[in-house]
Amino acid sequence: MALIKWPGLIDVHVHLREPGATHKEDFISGTKAAVAGGFTAVLDMPNNPVTTVTLERLKEKKKLSEKSLCFVGFHFGTDGTNFAEFKAASLDRQVFGLKIFADHTTGTLLIEDLNLIEEAFIAWKSDKPVLLHAEGEKGAELIFRAVRAGRRVHLCYISRKCEVEAVRKAKAKKLPVTTGVTPHHLFLTKENVSQLGPFGYMKPEVGSDADREALWTGIFDNTIDLVESDHAPHTSEEKKSGQPPFGVPGLETTLGLLLKAVHEGKLSLEKVRTLLYDNPKKAFSVPNIPSRIEFDPDQSFIIGKNGYQTRAGWSPFAGWEAYDRVKRVRIGNKTVYENGSFQV
Ligand SMILES: [Zn+2]
Repeated sequence: MALIKWPGLIDVHVHLREPGATHKEDFISGTKAAVAGGFTAVLDMPNNPVTTVTLERLKEKKKLSEKSLCFVGFHFGTDGTNFAEFKAASLDRQVFGLKIFADHTTGTLLIEDLNLIEEAFIAWKSDKPVLLHAEGEKGAELIFRAVRAGRRVHLCYISRKCEVEAVRKAKAKKLPVTTGVTPHHLFLTKENVSQLGPFGYMKPEVGSDADREALWTGIFDNTIDLVESDHAPHTSEEKKSGQPPFGVPGLETTLGLLLKAVHEGKLSLEKVRTLLYDNPKKAFSVPNIPSRIEFDPDQSFIIGKNGYQTRAGWSPFAGWEAYDRVKRVRIGNKTVYENGSFQV
């Protein structure tokens, strides 16, 4: 097939690790991974070692991100004590949402008290969505409370059948809810995860076959709006340690895996574009970034064979056949990436 030319893709959920954990990733290595994977806009999460819960920390991150190879936006964080910062943060043009961690993952930004989370919804007086990490029943309850407070909600990386059903119900009631799914929840089975050992540890965990089928159904019937990589790099040494951290890198494999699904007749090319560009842009009001990616959806490659741009240097999909390595990426009037090399 001829080369496909699309606008640069948008990933609304990445952890680029700077500041505080640049041995895992930084804004240069992370945005190189993004561009090599076909993304020209990424939205970074606030759970750095020193969390992004103040304007000062936000300003610092914005400054550090200036060296990035593509557009980087941010989600502001909350620990339940920083509501006074919300107004200015929500007005910042580089902020796209408020992330609330209602369940355990990497970092210290956990709020378990649902009433305190509801206070955060009320305090976030903005049209920019509240992003929730809330698993199982908690997700449905928090969607209800967020909407009651007048907020738009994005339920992050749903992984279970009951979560797909909760979002489907909310959408049937026309509530302002969007949701995303990760490639690892769509493609990895429990068997894959047990073979991967600590390299398959992530939050939420990979569900059962029935959960995975429900996620695919959610994609087909538009319950699921978008695919988010949840790019969460850790070093191999950390993963092999006695206390392996949660998370896997994903920026360089997301498009290739979805194109694999196209190749297998599971998805249309148009649907991939909807999941990785149109819907993320709409859900988070990402501005127009003049950019273009080129790829051949019929050309396969083996993940990891030519190494990785992410500093983590590994993938849970290493050795899998995917379609296609991005050939060329232009941002503005500059070619920044061509045939595996960066032109910057
Ligand atoms: Zn995440």
